[in-house]
Amino acid sequence: MAKIQEATTRLFKNVFVCKKCHTKIRAKQLKILEGKVKCRKCGRKAFRPLKKK
Ligand SMILES: [Zn+2]
Repeated sequence: MAKIQEATTRLFKNVFVCKKCHTKIRAKQLKILEGKVKCRKCGRKAFRPLKKK
């Protein structure tokens, strides 16, 4: 159980969703915070973590 949870956390940890077009992007959180990641679809830099709905 613990291992599954760990894997899930790892899977979701670096995934973010574009606030505008809801495209999922995998990137390090640091890069998101630094604004270095652009949505490949709409070019926005506004992301939120995947976990929150
Ligand atoms: Zn987008």
